[in-house]
Amino acid sequence: MYWEGREETSHVEDRRSFGSGTGVAVGGGSVIVLLLALLLGGDPQRLIQFWQAHGPAPAARTSRRPDPAEQRLASFTKVIFRDTEIIWEEQFRRLGRQYLKPTLVLFSGHVSSACGSADAAVGPFYCPGDHRVYIDLSFYRDMERQLHAPGEFARAYVIAHEVGHHVQTLLGYTRQVDEARRRLGRHHPEINRLSVRLELQADFLAGVWAHHGQKKFRFLEPGDVESALNAAFQIGDDRLQKRARGYVVPDSFTHGTSRQRQRWFLEGFQTGDVRRAALLFELPYDQL
Ligand SMILES: [Zn+2]
Repeated sequence: MYWEGREETSHVEDRRSFGSGTGVAVGGGSVIVLLLALLLGGDPQRLIQFWQAHGPAPAARTSRRPDPAEQRLASFTKVIFRDTEIIWEEQFRRLGRQYLKPTLVLFSGHVSSACGSADAAVGPFYCPGDHRVYIDLSFYRDMERQLHAPGEFARAYVIAHEVGHHVQTLLGYTRQVDEARRRLGRHHPEINRLSVRLELQADFLAGVWAHHGQKKFRFLEPGDVESALNAAFQIGDDRLQKRARGYVVPDSFTHGTSRQRQRWFLEGFQTGDVRRAALLFELPYDQL
């Protein structure tokens, strides 16, 4: 993926210096399963609460300096984030709306958000309450080593997916699902299905971003789209559950299957049509 030399976002809070030096060692099956299951969002409050109850205590705080490799990852993340601002400002203008830019928060180890405090092991997340995307850069390494999802464009897909959650917050989809959650209670079977719709829509919006980003920046290299599709495959609920426990429980899905995640990313990438995002809440569930 071509990204070097492009502008970085100015909507960034670098909180890495306040984090712990060591982060949390992610090891042990159950922790990895948790990490995998919670990847890429879902209901941030729920996953943070779960993590607070079951996760390890924060590691001791030590000061440290970011190394050049980490600075490069930070720079990459800020460039991609800026790319999303440019594309979504344009798309919102076309819809006759204004795009309120989210803020990127880089952290290491532990972070506080309007959705609660979170540990790096929950993976990147978006908090609708403060319009911030939270990323611990060590996640990219986890993607490669634990999720078998290498590649810069796979990382860009993850960033764009989280920004997709911001876009759907601005468009009103998040509130719709929150209201249903309040009305039906979080354990109602429909809630997981709404979560799947929201997550697949974020994948779709990531695809829309990639479509227009490619037109504007020509940022794709051969193999890039495949690396994003591979990431979408690796983080499908069915794939993660099969790897974690050997079988699949469709009613417990919150993000969609590998095939669905690939499908909707591709749908966005091929059409570039943000209005088709409505489909994710219009189609019958078994046609997603
Ligand atoms: Zn998500």
